[in-house]
Amino acid sequence: MAAIRLDHIRHAYTPELARAGTYALREVDHLFEDGGAYALLGPSGCGKTTLLNIISGLLTPSEGTLRFDERDVTTLTPEARNIAQVFQFPVIYDTMSVADNLAFPLRNRKVPKPEIERRVGDMLRRLGLEAKAGRRAQGLTADEKQKISLGRGLVRSDVNAILFDEPLTVIDPHMKWQLRSQLKELHRQFRTTMIYVTHDQTEALTFAEKVVVMTEGQVVQIGTPEELFERPRHTFVGYFIGSPGMNVLPCRLEGEDAVLAGGRVRLGGGARVASGARTELGIRPEFVRLVPRGQGLPVQVRRVEDLGAERVVRAELDGQKIVSIVPEGVAVPTEADVAFAPEALHLYADSWLVEGRA
Ligand code: ATP
Repeated sequence: MAAIRLDHIRHAYTPELARAGTYALREVDHLFEDGGAYALLGPSGCGKTTLLNIISGLLTPSEGTLRFDERDVTTLTPEARNIAQVFQFPVIYDTMSVADNLAFPLRNRKVPKPEIERRVGDMLRRLGLEAKAGRRAQGLTADEKQKISLGRGLVRSDVNAILFDEPLTVIDPHMKWQLRSQLKELHRQFRTTMIYVTHDQTEALTFAEKVVVMTEGQVVQIGTPEELFERPRHTFVGYFIGSPGMNVLPCRLEGEDAVLAGGRVRLGGGARVASGARTELGIRPEFVRLVPRGQGLPVQVRRVEDLGAERVVRAELDGQKIVSIVPEGVAVPTEADVAFAPEALHLYADSWLVEGRA
């Protein structure tokens, strides 16, 4: 296993794109800790696969250095990096038995036979595939095949990291949850460095200890699920994480106050915002309260969606959409104002969180 260091890595797919400043991956400088479980999360085209392929060696970055522990691996082939990969579609040998598929990488590395038998037996047990050990892989279900792909990485003792590229895409919805839990459990047992690419926030947040959120080729935040929820460093993170996402409301600053929708919201702290910056307030729907008229900022309630344990109230604040989550049993007034929990308010300047304020 290894720590993976990205040292000022950037990538443009052609020299022309680099000259034009069009980078599929803008500069990343980050350490993936040895034994950590990470997810790369973001919408289609944000650069997740580009970053994963740079780590696996399928792609050489146009700039920067990649290190596994202290070793520079930037130009090494995927084979020389000793990483295992699990793709969208399981890559296994259909004509081999389940056990032989697991033994294959060990035989290639000339591991002694008794050791192969021990490790394959152990892996079959952990994956719940003992009963199918002698069966040809051909007839297995997609989730069983994906377990074998994963097992082939985990049986090796020399693997530096396991990389996953949207591994649950072809798995039946009802099996996804099970496979994801099993994957998390296997990570807990083996503590192999794992990096998991997905555009699905549920997958990312349940699997990873730390999530790398990306948009438009840029890493905008790396944090625990709690950090991403409680303190989004960029409005994109607030909007992308959470369901529904964070409200982002344009505002103007006047001293210690944010002015919006004809009202004022008191902000704490005293951090500076560059003059001319576009300022916005961020507040998650869970912290937007509906209060009687006259006690907050006036809204028009447009729609109420009843989700059982809570209701999602969609309203308009001075022509701006705003969402509130109202717990069960709390009335939704037709004539309402909104009030914000002060500790959950965030101030953004040009989309970035203003630290030390609000
Ligand atoms: P998806 O979830 O759709 O796979 P992604 O987040 O993995 O998306 P990438 O595949 O890394 O995103 O693509 C990032 C950007 O680089 C996109 O704008 C894409 O069009 C571009 N790109 C990807 N591969 C190439 C390539 N071989 N040549 C030129 N541009 C590419």
